[in-house]
Amino acid sequence: MLSVTEARERILSRFQPTAPETIRLTECANRMLAVDIFAAHDLPPFDNSSMDGFAIRSADSAAVTGGSSLTLSVVADIAAGSAPTATVGAGQAARIMTGAPMPAGADAVIPVEETDFNNRAAGQSAPQQVTINRVVRVGENVRPRGMDLHVGDVVLKKGHNLRPQELGLLAMLGIGQVQVHKKPRIALLSTGDELLEVDEPLTTGKIHDANSYALGALIQSAGAEVFPLGIARDTRKSVEDLLQQAADAQVDLILSSAGVSVGAFDFVKEVIELNGQLNFWKVNMRPGKPLAFGEYQSRPFIGLPGNPVSAFVGFEVFVRPVLEKLSGRLSGSRLTVKVRCGEEIESDGRESYLRATLHSEDGVPIAKLTGHQGSGNLLSLVQADALLIIPAGVKCVPVSQEVEAILL
Ligand code: AMP
Ligand code: MG
Repeated sequence: MLSVTEARERILSRFQPTAPETIRLTECANRMLAVDIFAAHDLPPFDNSSMDGFAIRSADSAAVTGGSSLTLSVVADIAAGSAPTATVGAGQAARIMTGAPMPAGADAVIPVEETDFNNRAAGQSAPQQVTINRVVRVGENVRPRGMDLHVGDVVLKKGHNLRPQELGLLAMLGIGQVQVHKKPRIALLSTGDELLEVDEPLTTGKIHDANSYALGALIQSAGAEVFPLGIARDTRKSVEDLLQQAADAQVDLILSSAGVSVGAFDFVKEVIELNGQLNFWKVNMRPGKPLAFGEYQSRPFIGLPGNPVSAFVGFEVFVRPVLEKLSGRLSGSRLTVKVRCGEEIESDGRESYLRATLHSEDGVPIAKLTGHQGSGNLLSLVQADALLIIPAGVKCVPVSQEVEAILL
């Protein structure tokens, strides 16, 4: 049977990043850059004050020694957004606000709180004179031009995820339109005669469709768009109808859950074989062994297991990396960390993904399993902080041993 790594490699080799598109910055959250971004100007674009205070010549302040003070005449008042024209000469100062350009001649700013002048209220005009009583270093409270970036610097690389802070930085650089990868579109369907829509009353033998909701949210969390197809019944025709809709919509991936095992009514594999090809349908892992990969009319298809925990794990292990690749993302989005087992953990030799809580003991994350690990027990996933990865071939992990964990 295929290992998780082999299966993931086979799947990933089938995908390429989506085409680029140029969109407004307001639409760019969680998109991946399709090009490198260069600074069009220095950042900050001019020397400016990092405090409300007085711009001075630092050399003047050398005259302040043990208990003495220095009085300077105030020759200008510089607000943020203004373009100062005055030069600060020896024995002079300019009142200056945070973010305002430094005047010529001055090389440091002393904060207003450290002078004899009290800004009691907004609108108060600058004093004629200001007295300081400490030595001020060259460059103190000045943010020099180009301190963060120089014109022409590479700011962000192709494949970088645009988080809120990246959007702010792009705006600071005057970049209002960005070339990013198109949002991948993922067709999502559940399959099963037992499934009810969430609003339908529960009747004997039926359960509500959980996977459409959990997987739909997972798809969105990975920066892709859901093309919802609803529930296919356990007939060849019903499965085929929905897969055809997905193919007609030219989605980037068709994602289904259930119906890929060896049950008498598991039609999904068969429909894929009839209308495309099945690459594999079993992976050596737990939970989530019945996992199908192939194509329906040359559209990539992944069939996750039906049990909600298996579907979730299958998504994290195989589908999230696909969505990341499709969306052009270069770095993984799910963090894995080393944690220490707080109890002995038995495994069956398959690569296993076990639900665990984490707590800290002297700063070390300790993992404990969240009750029974049945793959239908969605509650245990709700209680979990992490999925512990128990490697293939391991039958027992002793207390205190370190294992890798995916943080949820
Ligand atoms: P199957 O792969 O079709 O044999 O389904 C395996 C298990 O998962 C069965 O207990 C199904 O009832 C359950 N199951 C399948 N699809 C869903 C779903 N969308 N939501 C919740 N449970 C499901
Ligand atoms: Mg079924």
